Amino acid sequence: MELPRTYEVRTFGCQMNVHDSERLGGSLEAAGFVRGEQGSADVVVINTCAVRENADNKLYGTLGHLAQLKRERPGMQIAVGGCLAQKDKHTIQDRAPWVDVVFGTHNMGSLPALLDRARHNGEAQLEILESLEVFPSTLPSRRESTHSAWVSISVGCNNTCTFCIVPALRGKERDRRPGDVLAEVEAVVADGAIEVTLLGQNVNSYGVEFGDRRAFSKLLRATGRIDGLERVRFTSPHPAAFTDDVIEAMAETPNVMPQLHMPLQSGSDRVLKAMRRSYRSERFLGILDRVRAAIPGAAISTDVIVGFPGETEEDFAETLRVVEASRFASAFTFQYSIRPGTPAATMPEQLPKEVVQERYDRLVELQERISAEENAALVGSTLEAMATEGDGRKNEETRRMSGRARDGRLVHFEIPPGSDRPRPGDMVAVEVTQSAPHHLIADSMTGEPLRIRATRAGDAWERAVLGEHAHDHHDGAVAAGPVSLGLPSVR
Ligand code: SF4
Repeated sequence: MELPRTYEVRTFGCQMNVHDSERLGGSLEAAGFVRGEQGSADVVVINTCAVRENADNKLYGTLGHLAQLKRERPGMQIAVGGCLAQKDKHTIQDRAPWVDVVFGTHNMGSLPALLDRARHNGEAQLEILESLEVFPSTLPSRRESTHSAWVSISVGCNNTCTFCIVPALRGKERDRRPGDVLAEVEAVVADGAIEVTLLGQNVNSYGVEFGDRRAFSKLLRATGRIDGLERVRFTSPHPAAFTDDVIEAMAETPNVMPQLHMPLQSGSDRVLKAMRRSYRSERFLGILDRVRAAIPGAAISTDVIVGFPGETEEDFAETLRVVEASRFASAFTFQYSIRPGTPAATMPEQLPKEVVQERYDRLVELQERISAEENAALVGSTLEAMATEGDGRKNEETRRMSGRARDGRLVHFEIPPGSDRPRPGDMVAVEVTQSAPHHLIADSMTGEPLRIRATRAGDAWERAVLGEHAHDHHDGAVAAGPVSLGLPSVR
């Protein structure tokens, strides 16, 4: 009997691509494939990104390596999908004729059939659609994590930021019905997940398609009523469409985490205008003030682009001013790079690389200082971290694990000798003893055993790893947050 073919998915780019890769894996498994090891799988799928300048180099570099592998294993197949495939179409097969299948962002569900056709006909397949075939969320999913799940609420974007290729590659915004989103959230929670991240290119305009401008805040409140769902996060919001009903929903829904990722992109109103970002710095700062008033201690992060065409030293000084005033917990900082196919790519006054680099270095230095100060203020506080990296078995010898606090901060915590070891998904109450710009540290000062709250997610992890040898540890009662630990209120 022929063994099932194996596959691996390599993901480049954003969380939306991570979500989509889980759907590609799920579709292949539904077609009889099984997950394989990197480097030995029968089918290698590359889910590409088109945003960053070196996105092309990354793809063609990877395809170069795979060419060698394929020469050694002729039956192996290579498939390329995602945003760069949607943009470059046949160019990929022209430059890498050993690629068997090229598919786009609108027809991910076709991958198994395209692989079959390529194999059957002995001929490379190219299928790119200009509009959505099916909502990726309707495809089967092979989730990477037992405790956390990505749930997309919309695809595409109606904005036209001049540096961004997404609308051209993912199309206009299409919204999933709230009932479908909530059904998926309930399904992943029933499967053991206790954390969900709601995904959209611009979650604040969710509902425009079905005429309900308050649909996103209603969705947040509705997730608050799902039993067993402890943590809700979302990305990406847009300052232009960010309304107070969302802030109220965040503040009044206990399982919505005190965390917000709000892309600023530039602090200069003149540059925001050139980026076609329809808000100005005053509005941006106003939103942050209202969020902090309603949710004290909320961790706010952002995206900033340095060196947009025409950016003057005065414009950049505005970016530094707004970043200083915003006190972000962290920031993704980017050097502007030409993205073929975007309006900004042909704008005059493209800046010299060294000018962009010098400004970038100043911005990073400023944000590193702020991140360090914001984290230092948490030393001495007690927080609840959901254990993530490092399963209890593999690195028995290490006495360190990592987790995520409610506000999304990364925490490395020590496991005192003799203490139980939390499973990924379990909650741990720890006291912050040290800090760094990008993480917190909780060393065990007393040697007391870790205070662990076993969760359904921990049980799900144990079932996934130990199968029939697994035990359910959480008491079945859905602990309503840290109070079940009998601890003082934590962040
Ligand atoms: S909001 Fe702007 S940056 Fe974000 S996906 Fe849409 S066009 Fe791109």
